[in-house]
Amino acid sequence: MIGLEGPRRAKMRMCLAWTRNPDCQDDALCALAASRDRPGAQSLNPNLIWYTMNFCPNCGAKVNLQIPRGDDRHRHVCPSCRQIHYQNPKLVVGVIPEWQGRILLCRRAIAPREGLWTLPAGYLENGETAAEGARRETWEEARARVDDLVPYILFDLTFINQLYLLFRGTLASEVCQPGSESLAVGFFAEAEIPWNEIAFKVIEETLRRYFRDCARGTFLFQTGRIHPAERKE
Ligand code: ZN
Repeated sequence: MIGLEGPRRAKMRMCLAWTRNPDCQDDALCALAASRDRPGAQSLNPNLIWYTMNFCPNCGAKVNLQIPRGDDRHRHVCPSCRQIHYQNPKLVVGVIPEWQGRILLCRRAIAPREGLWTLPAGYLENGETAAEGARRETWEEARARVDDLVPYILFDLTFINQLYLLFRGTLASEVCQPGSESLAVGFFAEAEIPWNEIAFKVIEETLRRYFRDCARGTFLFQTGRIHPAERKE
């Protein structure tokens, strides 16, 4: 930002606030953000435009930010091939892998939150079922096998446009080792969980609910929501 003139600097600050993208130079998006208080501004929720797109990934033409016919939200629309580039939430799938009363956790080898502990979880890939994705993540991060997956909890993280779907699962054996994304893996009873070193609030909340249900002896499917203020930075 050094050396930028005043108006440009002001515009980029606005983009930081509204798109969280410090490189945003999208005039239409800035105008959109500036008009957020006008009547009918319900479509100006910053999460609706999660990242700024300049060029169409389909044909390479410069895209426009506009409300398509029949829609009520701004989208990136290609004037050349007419493709509408929708931005929708991503699904993270994972497992609470249990082995004889202990939970398998992974210590992250990658950003964000490198060095902190988490459950095996990651983005669902195209062509996978949710359970297949959760099994794959458990293998990739902990080289462990889980078979009997049962859906356990669904969390909304609307502030980052993500959903977390975590399964319960029993490990096929105690055989495990760190995958390429993990520094270490280990089994933890409730009293051994490193609560101050859990990487993400959504994982901490999942573990707390899980051990509460363990004490009750019942595991009903449940939902929840993580708010920005609860985010671990
Ligand atoms: Zn195009």
